[in-house]
Formats: sequence, C-alpha cells, structure tokens
Amino acid sequence: MSSTCVFCKIIEGTIPAFKLYEDLDVIAFLDINQTTHGHALVIPKSHYDHFLATPKTLMNQVMNVAQRIGQAQIQMLHAKGVNILSNALPGAGQSVMHFHVHVIPRFGPQDRLKIEMLQNQSKDALNLPALVSQLKSAIDLK
Ligand code: AMP
Ligand code: ZN
Repeated sequence: MSSTCVFCKIIEGTIPAFKLYEDLDVIAFLDINQTTHGHALVIPKSHYDHFLATPKTLMNQVMNVAQRIGQAQIQMLHAKGVNILSNALPGAGQSVMHFHVHVIPRFGPQDRLKIEMLQNQSKDALNLPALVSQLKSAIDLK
C-alpha cells in the first residue's frame, strides 16, 4: 500500500470510485475519463508499480476480471469490440504507478478513439533474425 497512490486510496475507500467488481485480490471501476462509454480499469489490491513488476498469479486474476468486464461491455452496452491496454512505465504513457488494465469498449468510428499500429521502421533497416535472438536470450521460457 502506498500512501501517495490514488488507486491505493480507492482500495482503502478514502477516495470514491464507481466500482464494478470486487473480490479479495482485485477491484474494477469506471475510469474517471471515459475514453469511450464504459471504459473501465481493473487493478490488484496489492500495490505493484506496473505490469512488468506484477506476480504472475495476480496478473492472471486481473486478466480474468478484465475478460468478464469486456464480456459485460459487449452484452450490456452493445460494444462492437474491446481493447485491452496496460501502459507500463512513464515511457509508455503510464500516469498512475499502480498496475492497471484498461478495458475499453469500442463502438465503431463514432467512438473517436484511434489506436494505430504504423510501420515506423524502414524495411531495409529491419533485421528480424537478429532481433529475435537478442530478445530470446532474455526471455525466461519456464
Ligand atoms: P495510465 O495513463 O495508463 O496510467 O492510466 C491511468 C488512468 O487512471 C487514466 O485513464 C485516468 O483517467 C485514470 N484515473 C486517474 N485517477 C482516477 C480516479 N480517481 N478514478 C478513476 N480513474 C482514475
Ligand atoms: Zn497503489
């Protein structure tokens, strides 16, 4: 628990939130900035700074709840799809340093959210075999 963390304060109940779900380890609530209608956040009750620092079992519990929220957004809000997003570290745009997963329902072009995966690197500069061996050496496959 971090005394300065806004999500820990939501867990403690010292600041309010529109809670969608709660169990012993996980809570979900509406994002204060509704990027789209129904945008929700799922977080572990224990404080871990971000996705990369969260124990696997807890991450699985968070993802399990994120899946249920996404299913509810499709069923009850008639979303056409769902984006799952977790910004890890400020370099990736993380602003609240308590691991969270955004569950963002999508309603087609009129929802005005754009997530574009552009090809930003020149094809000539790409060396995919070298990239794979560089990354593979650091991935724990256990
Ligand atoms: P990120 O930029 O991935 O760290 O996202 C943090 C998210 O937390 C943003 O989408 C904020 O709108 C949201 N947020 C910040 N404070 C609150 C709060 N008190 N209640 C609900 N959502 C919040
Ligand atoms: Zn926290």
